[in-house]
Amino acid sequence: MENQVGTLQATSVEAAAPVRAATGAILFFGPPGAGKGTQAREMAQRRGLPHISTGDLLRNHVAQGTSLGHAAKQIMSSGGLIPDSLVCEMVRARLQEPDTFGGYVLDGFPRTLEQAFWLDRCQNAQRFGAPTVAVCIHIDFKHLLRRITGRRACPVCQASYNVYLNPPRQDELCDFDGTKLTRRTDDSEQIFAERIRAYESLTAPVVEHYRLHGRAIDVDGDRSIGEVAAQITAAVDHLRI
Ligand code: AMP
Repeated sequence: MENQVGTLQATSVEAAAPVRAATGAILFFGPPGAGKGTQAREMAQRRGLPHISTGDLLRNHVAQGTSLGHAAKQIMSSGGLIPDSLVCEMVRARLQEPDTFGGYVLDGFPRTLEQAFWLDRCQNAQRFGAPTVAVCIHIDFKHLLRRITGRRACPVCQASYNVYLNPPRQDELCDFDGTKLTRRTDDSEQIFAERIRAYESLTAPVVEHYRLHGRAIDVDGDRSIGEVAAQITAAVDHLRI
């Protein structure tokens, strides 16, 4: 099923958005726990672009019990990747929404070369004014596990915490609304190992695809959120001059 996407056409996106000469697309890569979600949200807010996280979209499908959600649930909880054809179809639908016509921040997509080739075909049709940039966040492997197993989020306001690095004032409760914090089911030590394997074998080659085309930038994720964001902004602007 995974490779069926090779035949998936980008024509619907093309038809929906004939002219998209604006900010363009910024893609975020990094192993689980590198902080790509935080940085992607920050960048989206700063540039006024929609933040599209395929992990969030899939979790919404699971929560709503759609057919995609049913297909994705077990794969996600084992740390594997959802088949390319299903994820590309989900992204295709999202990229037809008008808020993406000036550009977008993608977080967690593309995760395989097939997805990247599919996105290239879409972007050829999109005709953005600025080239796509792939931001790769690097982080010392020994920090990743604490970042993953300590991660918590408020299900109401989405505020994020880490019980080791950025704990809430009251144990397991949101600082803003007092809601009990939740933990992603795939943020366990066992599933972490599988997610890392998937990243190294399937997603790392995607970064090389963008690097080959001179579109990748590398940032050091072992710094504060603000410092990483500043590195990213400077590198993205430099690549686009
Ligand atoms: P994330 O929130 O980005 O860590 O994604 C959580 C999980 O959703 C991943 O471990 C995969 O199971 C699934 N997922 C998210 N994005 C993709 C994608 N582009 N391709 C395949 N599976 C994905």
